[in-house]
Amino acid sequence: GTPPPPAPPLKGRGGDGALDSVRSDFPGLRTEDGGAWHYLDTAATAQKPQSVIDTMTRGFGEEYATVHRGVYQRSAEMTRRFEAARKRVASFLGSDDDREIVFVRGATEAINLVANTWGGVNIREGDRILISALEHHANIVPWQMLASHVGATIDVCPLTDDGKIDLDAAEKMLTERHKLVAFAHVSNVLGGVLDAKRAASIAHKVGARFLLDGCQAVPRVAVDVQDIGCDFYVMSSHKLYGPTGIGALWAAYDTLDAMPPWQGGGSMIDRVTFEGATYMPPPGRFEAGTPAIVEALGLHAAIDYVDAIGLDAIHAHECDLTTKARDALGQINSVRLLGPADSAGIVSFLMEGVHPHDVATIIDEEGVAVRAGHHCAQPLMDYLDIPSTVRASFGVYNDESDVAALVRGVERVRKIFG
Ligand code: PLP
Repeated sequence: GTPPPPAPPLKGRGGDGALDSVRSDFPGLRTEDGGAWHYLDTAATAQKPQSVIDTMTRGFGEEYATVHRGVYQRSAEMTRRFEAARKRVASFLGSDDDREIVFVRGATEAINLVANTWGGVNIREGDRILISALEHHANIVPWQMLASHVGATIDVCPLTDDGKIDLDAAEKMLTERHKLVAFAHVSNVLGGVLDAKRAASIAHKVGARFLLDGCQAVPRVAVDVQDIGCDFYVMSSHKLYGPTGIGALWAAYDTLDAMPPWQGGGSMIDRVTFEGATYMPPPGRFEAGTPAIVEALGLHAAIDYVDAIGLDAIHAHECDLTTKARDALGQINSVRLLGPADSAGIVSFLMEGVHPHDVATIIDEEGVAVRAGHHCAQPLMDYLDIPSTVRASFGVYNDESDVAALVRGVERVRKIFG
């Protein structure tokens, strides 16, 4: 008889059209009338695959119970799942010690935690902190609050002409007064990927600690904190196809162990009397209160989802879409592209004579969802001397039809505004 047809290529396993079939994993991309919706705002938050939704439905349903306290079986089982999620985050970031993962609400809370605990002990009057011109407000404001509290100074590293953090400049700026360098691993506005290893070594040369804001990096590039040699790494689950309400801080165990607690309450204590309290070792010391239990399970499922496809495949896919989008938009007269040509999945641009909000509103009518604004990076807008940008950002589920729709939309804007 005739041989069976060849098996369809596995998702992301290198078959033809490797990522073609993943779109159907995301119910958030379906529309009521079955028409196309081109979601290009993954840098703000990613859509969720069905596996994450199913995991959380079970977690809130037949599996639900509290963690860490219950002696009954359901709670013990939930604790096991919750701690398995912590292990999964550790291995995902390249750590072999799950005590190095602190669950937080997101990257914002993680940076505030470091600023308040590590910063409170280690940053003193006269010390300096180096950030860059492209940081998200989450990696600026906590340092400003700390600096004004203790009398430290913040320095701002400039960007290269194509919009990456200028590490040559950073190297020249750093002094022994600098106690911390805090940079974005991938810019949420311009998409440039930092040479994180070099940045770590530059920081360490003057004895500064190095924090990486990995919010936009974890969904786009493989991360290995040991290989990078950073001191703190922060991430949010919701940009990694997981739920909101949870994220992670990674730091070496000894670093965490030397940090005082931040928020006080249940779970973070060893023993409490009316006279005082002793605290849990890390990570418990930093996790006061009932944690985001089911969200941790959702994050675990999201990491499993991303890992099954492979970050290298996702990175290559998004770089390909970015190049296609930049090439096509670059052909349109009134478009000014921002950021480096090798941006990882994020394309910011301006249209001459048209406000970014008008661009976004008009192309929304074409079923294309992009973000317009300052992207929580007002100082970067000032630095580039622009009020805002239009930002299209790709995820694992986007394809060339999304790029084509974006370009059609931008062409329409150009025609309307002549
Ligand atoms: N850092 C970067 C680079 C981001 O893109 C974001 C989110 O927009 C954040 C930090 C803050 O993340 P979250 O709002 O999840 O705490």
